[in-house]
Amino acid sequence: MEEEVAQRKIIHVDMDAFYASVEQMDNPDLRGKPLAVGGGGKRGVVSAASYEARVFGVRSAMPGFKARKLCSDLIFVRPRFDRYKEISDQIRKIFFDYTDLVEPLSLDEAYLDVTENKKGNPSATLIAKEIRQQIFEEVGLTASAGISINKFVAKVASDYNKPNGQKTVNPEEVVEFLEDLDVKKFYGVGKVTRAKMYQMGIYTGKDLKSKSEEFLTQNFGKSGKHYYQIVRGIHLSEVKPNRQRKSLAAERTFSDNISSEIYMLERLESIAEELQKRLKNNKVSGRTVTLKIRYSDFSLQTRSKTLPYFVSDADILLETAKELLYQDTMKNSVRLLGISLSNLNTGKDKKKQKEKEEVEIVQLRFDF
Ligand SMILES: [Mg+2]
Repeated sequence: MEEEVAQRKIIHVDMDAFYASVEQMDNPDLRGKPLAVGGGGKRGVVSAASYEARVFGVRSAMPGFKARKLCSDLIFVRPRFDRYKEISDQIRKIFFDYTDLVEPLSLDEAYLDVTENKKGNPSATLIAKEIRQQIFEEVGLTASAGISINKFVAKVASDYNKPNGQKTVNPEEVVEFLEDLDVKKFYGVGKVTRAKMYQMGIYTGKDLKSKSEEFLTQNFGKSGKHYYQIVRGIHLSEVKPNRQRKSLAAERTFSDNISSEIYMLERLESIAEELQKRLKNNKVSGRTVTLKIRYSDFSLQTRSKTLPYFVSDADILLETAKELLYQDTMKNSVRLLGISLSNLNTGKDKKKQKEKEEVEIVQLRFDF
């Protein structure tokens, strides 16, 4: 039973510069050129950069004006999320040729558990190669992959030989791989945590490993325990094909950007009704209401409020969303509004989680 949990062959597939690559594929004029998907205006933000743009230091999440400063020839194109979704579905279908255990992380990334797979292929490395080849032939885009014993190591590895490459971290290599790893590469370590770790003299996995669980928990709370385990190659999170819903949402994109609050309220009313319908269909309610605002320059703002009780009623959703709308002034005209509800009462399986944490890592001996 324990071995069943720990002995996995996991592939993390990550498309290369996905949005930008799609734009370059669909429009030959953009190929080989520095390209940013996103807004180039004063308030615009880069949501993806082509490799030609990355050479100049252009990165996603960078303000458009800054990107333009770094690369004066930078071409900005508007994102086409429907198109990205379409291609993402196409790629997902390819994954299902190999396994049903597919956990998408976003439109361009997924974990695959190929421990047992539909091709009967014992080598996860070869499967990753085949998948990347198939994506290239059927979709026309390149992907990178990381292959290892758990999701965490697979994800880190997929970055190693990017773009259009893959890396396998074999079971017997995992420990050393993690020891050599810069802590900033550890999942969940953001800028703040990284700075804190560096200050404590924790630069690599090896440094991290030298700290006791108590020390890490004291300094990093719950995440401390996670770091303690992960650096020892313990990451038992399964590939979850049917991820439990964490939130439910309804949103609307407007054909014309709107700036009038009256219009916004009108739209919010119908969005709240739609969300209520979805909540009823899924038989859930929740406590945290989030208002999502996408502005005409494509920048995104979310405002949340957690209520002391569970709700699913359109009226309360609308009231809360209104409150959030008035909480702050709008930056400019709005192209999308959405309401989502999280903190759902779906009942987490706490017992199962605990069991998983108690399982020990098992030294793996099988073809990789
Ligand atoms: Mg990607």
